[in-house]
Amino acid sequence: MTTLVCLDRDGTINKDEDYFLGSSLNWKQQVKILEGVVDGIKLLNNISDLEIFIITNQSGVALKGSKFELLNEKRMHEVNEYIINLLERQGAKIRGYFSCPYVDNKYLEKAKKIGREINPDYIKDKHPDLKPNIGMIIKAAETIEKKIEECNIYNIGDRYTDVEMGLKAGGTGILVPGKKTRELGDEARVKEIQEIYKQRVYIAKDFLDAATYITNKLLSLS
Ligand SMILES: [Mg+2]
Repeated sequence: MTTLVCLDRDGTINKDEDYFLGSSLNWKQQVKILEGVVDGIKLLNNISDLEIFIITNQSGVALKGSKFELLNEKRMHEVNEYIINLLERQGAKIRGYFSCPYVDNKYLEKAKKIGREINPDYIKDKHPDLKPNIGMIIKAAETIEKKIEECNIYNIGDRYTDVEMGLKAGGTGILVPGKKTRELGDEARVKEIQEIYKQRVYIAKDFLDAATYITNKLLSLS
């Protein structure tokens, strides 16, 4: 069975410092790959019949105002490609990416409260690609000519919604706790669903630990 490993981007692969990567002129200097990511991806690259994709919500594209002017869809793609190339140069290979520039009404309400404006073209409630919906995982599977039911799916991310998405896709959700995870109370929420889903939820120490977990799981299945 093909293994599909989906990686969140901000806060999982690269440092997430609330700067909406791509919104400033010096965005390339803001790309800092987190510890264990290159080694973790390399470890996964050694496994046969395993594909890695980046799956990321990019709500910054939907934000209006001078601060977010540069962060359009074109820039969103540039940042994704830049990160993939940066990893590739260090020997860590990723097959492709999917990113969702839309936001839902819940996001809109929160944005309003902190005085942020949203471009109405990007408000799409229940968009199939918007995490934790699994549209982007389905597309990733299609890239390799598979249905998600034919894949062993792992989703790695720093937010509750990342774990939730992995479960919704019928796979495993792996949390790599970072700065935001604890700040937003996501780690506690993941611990709660871990009680229910047991073996399908894992809280990793870091990215390398997440990759090691997948490697060991696959070895025990073979
Ligand atoms: Mg994230």
